[in-house]
Amino acid sequence: MKAVYNFNAGPSALPKIALERAQEEFLNFANTGMSVMELSHRSKEYEAVHQEAIDSLKELLKIPDNYKVLFLQGGASLQFSMIPIQFLKENKVGNYLLTGSWSEKALKEAKLIGETTIGGSTKENGYRSIPDLSSLQMNEHDAYVHLTSNNTIYGTQWSHFPDISHAPLIADMSSDILCRPIDVEQFGIIYAGAQKNLGPSGVTVVIIREDLLNEDVSHVPTMLKYQTHAESNSLYHTPPTFSIYMLNQVLRWVKEQGGVNAIEKQNIEKAKLIYDAIDESNGFYTGHADKEARSLMNITFNLPTEEDNKKFLAQAKEFGFVGLNGHRSVGGCRASTYNAVPVEACLQLREFMNAYRK
Ligand code: PMP
Repeated sequence: MKAVYNFNAGPSALPKIALERAQEEFLNFANTGMSVMELSHRSKEYEAVHQEAIDSLKELLKIPDNYKVLFLQGGASLQFSMIPIQFLKENKVGNYLLTGSWSEKALKEAKLIGETTIGGSTKENGYRSIPDLSSLQMNEHDAYVHLTSNNTIYGTQWSHFPDISHAPLIADMSSDILCRPIDVEQFGIIYAGAQKNLGPSGVTVVIIREDLLNEDVSHVPTMLKYQTHAESNSLYHTPPTFSIYMLNQVLRWVKEQGGVNAIEKQNIEKAKLIYDAIDESNGFYTGHADKEARSLMNITFNLPTEEDNKKFLAQAKEFGFVGLNGHRSVGGCRASTYNAVPVEACLQLREFMNAYRK
């Protein structure tokens, strides 16, 4: 089979070694004579995987002891509702910072539940940038401030986060968690669907500060309460065991790479290869994002015309590049260079972009 360079936006590339290890023990996990998928979620073999994944995330992201790591279902999209349903109370306002479609979607769900405000937005420039930290509007009635750390569709990323203490900062890190070190203490809640940097789809990671588990949430359905899942170590009901098993394999790989600092270095190198191909093309390729807002994870660009984009994408596909089309809502091209995308794939893409231009 010819080489495939997977630049899918999510679900996306997983570390090959993680897949191979899963394959090796697919039919006989930990000498049980069964697949990990066939084990009870209450078995000691599964519980060991579950706990290792939690502990590894804590270690890799240096998560302080007063935070809980939860494994939930419903994708990042369910978090758009779970957050306001527990924290958006009367006389409180959910403050949303809009940097793309996913933050708009989060806001839309909050509006169904309570009062909201937009504390910053870059919509008017086509979401090419991230709001200036000094321009953000914070209010004393904020229940929380919500942002999307990386904008998967537009290809922008927050490089610094607002430093606030009047309300918890909540971040959707679905498309950049573990791509770089972060200071977890800046956040009340971090959440991420797994299917980009963490593993396959099916599990959503939530990192929540413990004091936020003390809210009165008696009105909230049991499954939508963070408390429910925190109290039972995410084993209140059947978790997505195979997704968590794969997440654990991916976290082992991140550790073997040298942790998040080492991963960040690779990500910078990878993204630079492709951004250089854009910047050195004399305007043949134009990036969507302003330079200072560029994402390490999703590199969005256009050729001179929509027709050129189509031809480029068709030829790239023939050469084995997968997933380079932009999101259906914006078109153009997008290379998603998540953690597991090898440097080699980015080198090949750079070569292809240069050759295609010439
Ligand atoms: N937030 C961001 C930043 C995303 O990129 C995505 C998915 N691409 C979502 C939320 C939605 O995630 P899910 O499909 O897991 O609900």
